[in-house]
Amino acid sequence: MKCSIQGCPGEYEHRLVIHTVKRGADVLVFEDVPAEVCDVCSDMLLAPATIRHIEALMANHPKPRKQAPVYAYT
Ligand SMILES: [Zn+2]
Repeated sequence: MKCSIQGCPGEYEHRLVIHTVKRGADVLVFEDVPAEVCDVCSDMLLAPATIRHIEALMANHPKPRKQAPVYAYT
């Protein structure tokens, strides 16, 4: 599928990505999320079913697979 960003000649390809969601002061990190990623500009699309799955995971408060350190840029 061709990239939806205007002027970008790239094509989306299927990849597993790391998706982060900010919830209040917390940052939640999801690994191995299936996404379509443009091979030129890295624009990322998540399928509606994937977003629903992430929302369901967040609602169920599962135990995280692992913890990630969070750094401020400055
Ligand atoms: Zn693109």
